[in-house]
Amino acid sequence: MKANCWYGKEDVRVMDVPDPKILNPRDAIVKITSSAICGSDLHLYDGYIPSMMAGDILGHEFMGEVVETGNFVRNLKVGDRVVVPFTIACGSCFSCQLQLFSLCENSNPNAWMAEKLWGHSPSGLFGYSHLVGGYAGGQAQYARVPFADVGPLKIPEELTDEQVLFLSDILPTGYMAAEQCNIHAGDTIAVWGCGPVGLFAIQSAYLLGAERVIAIDRVPERLRFAREKLNAITIDYEDANVYDTLMDLTAGRGPDACIDAVGMEAHMPGLLYAYDRVKQALMMETGRPIALREAIMACRNGGTVSIPGVYGGLLDKIPVGAIMNRSLTIKTGQTHMHRYMRPLLDRIQKGEIDPTFVITHRLPLEEAPNAYRVFRDKQDECIKVVLKPHGGAGVNGGRSVNGASGNGAPH
Ligand code: NAD
Ligand code: ZN
Ligand code: ZN
Repeated sequence: MKANCWYGKEDVRVMDVPDPKILNPRDAIVKITSSAICGSDLHLYDGYIPSMMAGDILGHEFMGEVVETGNFVRNLKVGDRVVVPFTIACGSCFSCQLQLFSLCENSNPNAWMAEKLWGHSPSGLFGYSHLVGGYAGGQAQYARVPFADVGPLKIPEELTDEQVLFLSDILPTGYMAAEQCNIHAGDTIAVWGCGPVGLFAIQSAYLLGAERVIAIDRVPERLRFAREKLNAITIDYEDANVYDTLMDLTAGRGPDACIDAVGMEAHMPGLLYAYDRVKQALMMETGRPIALREAIMACRNGGTVSIPGVYGGLLDKIPVGAIMNRSLTIKTGQTHMHRYMRPLLDRIQKGEIDPTFVITHRLPLEEAPNAYRVFRDKQDECIKVVLKPHGGAGVNGGRSVNGASGNGAPH
């Protein structure tokens, strides 16, 4: 089969690789009909996640058709259409019983590696380094899905791939980011980052009752999107001081909750950015927590900082004094996917959410290497790429990445 494989920093290639096989009676094999590229994949692409190996198959946002099931998989049959959650969970361990599925204790065979870095191990993840299991990912024609009796969500025929694909990650992720804010009527929520995760966090914050959402980014089309399609107030962090503007908008009190939907590769004009870039390049810190620092400083006293943005290891100059002295609550985590998929599918079916709005590019799998670059560099107004591993509807209607007209944004 064909798969998009990681070979090093900024080096991904579509290769012929062996087809996956059932290894465990709880496995299923899925023929992938749609697969997306995530902001999390960019951290791999840019070389910031340790323990990747040449040839690793990327991708963790995928769906398709069940083509084979292990003996213990009774809930699925060949031909079923499913969306696969990016977190792999057994469904019955201590963490899974607490519905903390991204902390499953049985799905990371390399838990010892994660324990060295983080003290304890989270769950395994598809296509996201050996630290979290070394599982082959879903930017491929087929994937082996472990614990298939627990994770994959069956999709009714009448819904299109594009309507449900983002149940695999970014829709639940944006939703959990907003849910963690414990929103009350009248609340103002600020969201750093208007990528796909930030956009779904904005939408979810309104769904959960926020009165105002303030969105921060600098990419013009993403800010326009947040403003015009999602009714957010926007701040371009290159034009305005974010802290001062947030204070002006909240009568000096600060937003009730702040969401960091940027993560470890944040950008910022000015000196502190250069400081973080150099330290990150020298491996003296593993991320540039620029948005996180701002979110902590801006959040109102007693408020919540929710962090869906991914961080890998050690960060510098995090204002813990502000967190402690101002009674802030920090909430974070890889998304506990299995908790959110069915309720969000119900909302899609009822027409309350239409996640297709983020898709700007539909491309065959073979174009993945170009698509990574275009998405990373915010060229061609790219917000979300859907790859079609077996061709099919939509590919020809999508934009080609050739001739992309970038805005030259560094990353
Ligand atoms: P993305 O790269 O498309 O979006 C990030 C956005 O942040 C960009 O639009 C960028 O311009 C903006 N940005 C950069 N610096 C900024 C700053 N200082 N202030 C405000 N905005 C800034 O990525 P995405 O797909 O939207 O993902 C966002 C983050 O969420 C990533 O870190 C990703 O790894 C993470 N993520 C986490 C989970 C989870 O389970 N917790 C799941 C999916 C993605
Ligand atoms: Zn993702
Ligand atoms: Zn478990």
